[in-house]
Amino acid sequence: MRTRVAASPLPRLEAHMLWRQVLGVPHSWLVAHDDEPLAPERVVAYEVLEARRVAGEPMAYILGRREFLGRDFRVTPEVLIPRPDTELLVEAGLRALAGRENPRVLDLGTGSGAVAVSIALARPDAQVTATDLSAAALEVAADNARTLGASLQFFHGNWYDSRLGSAQYDLIVSNPPYIHALDSHLGLGDLRFEPTMALTDGADGLSALRAIVDGAPSHLMPSGVVCVEHGWDQAGAVRDLMRHRGFADIASLRDLAGIERVTHGRLPF
Ligand code: GLN
Repeated sequence: MRTRVAASPLPRLEAHMLWRQVLGVPHSWLVAHDDEPLAPERVVAYEVLEARRVAGEPMAYILGRREFLGRDFRVTPEVLIPRPDTELLVEAGLRALAGRENPRVLDLGTGSGAVAVSIALARPDAQVTATDLSAAALEVAADNARTLGASLQFFHGNWYDSRLGSAQYDLIVSNPPYIHALDSHLGLGDLRFEPTMALTDGADGLSALRAIVDGAPSHLMPSGVVCVEHGWDQAGAVRDLMRHRGFADIASLRDLAGIERVTHGRLPF
């Protein structure tokens, strides 16, 4: 048997990624050993993964990992797959922390922990707290923190309802569920396999963003920053929410596609 990547119904890159998973070899090995005889059980293992991919399952769930800001994060179907767009949220959050020593950071709805762990690793002096309503997600996030060597605190609960206590943060970040419940994208591509509660609020797409922005002033210290990811058409609404809650220096940042994707605001002193 051979890897027969050329005969696969999958794009060459995906077939290679699945073979690497099955054989535990680097890409260069596959290229050099395309004719290498393979044990039948390896071929069966590959075919199982290939069938999952052909059925539409996201590569990240089949491989059990996805790269985010240059690091491999473990992902399971209990967590949203980290997106390149969300790297913008981390960058904006880190900019807000510039000049603050030993800052306290809160990541609401951490999922795989990609945002919280990335911030903790970039700012080892920060005290980072991450929450999620899903206990299964928190386990994945804790596992990622351990594997990547970040030290974080985790709380189980909904937005500010978890056992946060009265701590005041320098920065609150979140990539909450913001897709409208009736958005047809929920029935397409990777989103079909991702946790519904991580994608949509089951309403107009703004209810989680509203809860996060509304609760932020009582959990931020003076001049603290709230920074959220949102949908392609929500930047104006999020800026309004922040304005109504008394935030200053409100601004939105564009993602790689030129779409306003992240909005932040600062509490006055
Ligand atoms: N950015 C994701 C998407 O549109 C949605 C993630 C979210 O709701 N936070 O695919």
